[in-house]
Amino acid sequence: MTAAPATKGWCPTLLSPMQSGDGWLARVKPSAGVLSSAVARLIAGAARRYGNGHIDLTSRGNLQIRGLTPRSAEDFAETIIGAGLASADPSLEAVRNVMASPLGPDDPTAPFDSHAVARDIEAMLAGEPALWALPPKFCILVDGGGALPLRDLTADIMVRAHEGALAVHLDGGIRAALCAPSSLAGTVKALALAFLRLSAQRSETPRRMRALVMAVGEEAIFAEAGLAAVHAAAQSKSQAGNSIGLISLQHQPLSGFGVGLPFGRVEADALTRLANLAERYGDGSLRTTPWRAPLLTGITAADADRLADEVSALGLIADPTDPRLTIFACVGAPSCASATVDARGDAARLAAAIGVTRDQTLHVSGCGKSCAHRGSASLTLVGRDGRYDLIRNGSAIGRPSLTGLSIDQIEALLLSAKGPRP
Ligand code: SF4
Repeated sequence: MTAAPATKGWCPTLLSPMQSGDGWLARVKPSAGVLSSAVARLIAGAARRYGNGHIDLTSRGNLQIRGLTPRSAEDFAETIIGAGLASADPSLEAVRNVMASPLGPDDPTAPFDSHAVARDIEAMLAGEPALWALPPKFCILVDGGGALPLRDLTADIMVRAHEGALAVHLDGGIRAALCAPSSLAGTVKALALAFLRLSAQRSETPRRMRALVMAVGEEAIFAEAGLAAVHAAAQSKSQAGNSIGLISLQHQPLSGFGVGLPFGRVEADALTRLANLAERYGDGSLRTTPWRAPLLTGITAADADRLADEVSALGLIADPTDPRLTIFACVGAPSCASATVDARGDAARLAAAIGVTRDQTLHVSGCGKSCAHRGSASLTLVGRDGRYDLIRNGSAIGRPSLTGLSIDQIEALLLSAKGPRP
């Protein structure tokens, strides 16, 4: 195991955990985002035994286990690898970054099985050591469309359906290589190898596909990969369907059920109980999602209300109108060493004070890295030196309208803007 330093572009993995304010953290990357209930219980048990039991779901659908020690991180990794959930090779594990639409083969409206394609790509990565030199943040997205599309997400290489074929896009480009499912993994491999070769020729090595597209143009990358590319339809920015509560599937007796996690976190005990619910009400399968909302599958509409009550009793979210879904906050201080503010505690305080509604979004970020939310929000607060910069209707990289505010000042400001309570 390597405990890598927190250098730019580096990401913690199972075998390279990262030191944070509450111990070491390691990531588990479920293949195609699928967890059986037994595996979910195993991860929860290991998080409790070796860490502090806090589990965060990342925007790439990975599970982040916190509060490990250097020694217990090794035991945790051994458990996860022993269960077949990760590679024992640190280089492969670092680049095994493949996201897929959560419903996969369970969605009859999806034009292809995103899980099968994602597994083909993972197998290709495992068999091609040259690709283990990809930057650790390099990510491949498989958008199966259907009921829960990933249209509003981007990644270095993106696979989407296009007029009866699969289209392989590059981040920052407008063209795509078209292929059949049987040649998809080979197409992704050619483009990833082209990325490495062309990046190596630059004096300043691009670390992401978007940067290489800007530097050399996407035509050069497709040409280097030996692929013809066509203009593909512009990426829709429409929102994915609702991912919380019952998700009915066309003409299917069984549905999905999305469970919101307040601030993207689930405690180990709650994950164990959620796995039990997946068995009792569904087909015993859980899916991670980029919306930080695990999905249960095989649910009947008749069970939806009882399941919602049980989910709510765990402190998790079963109602798509729950205002907590519009609040984003990273762990902040003291859990994250980069933070000087208690982002989650302050977010909860502000949400309670101003009564956040579904029409407003609140993002409280412990620092400018903006781990919890990349997009814009009605109100974004970015921690700096124990105080906050405030950005309205923008993201954490936006221009602040006020700087250096204490949480008391922000609360007073928001309350005065809201007017007297009835
Ligand atoms: S945004 Fe900053 S403070 Fe928050 S978790 Fe990320 S690195 Fe830590």
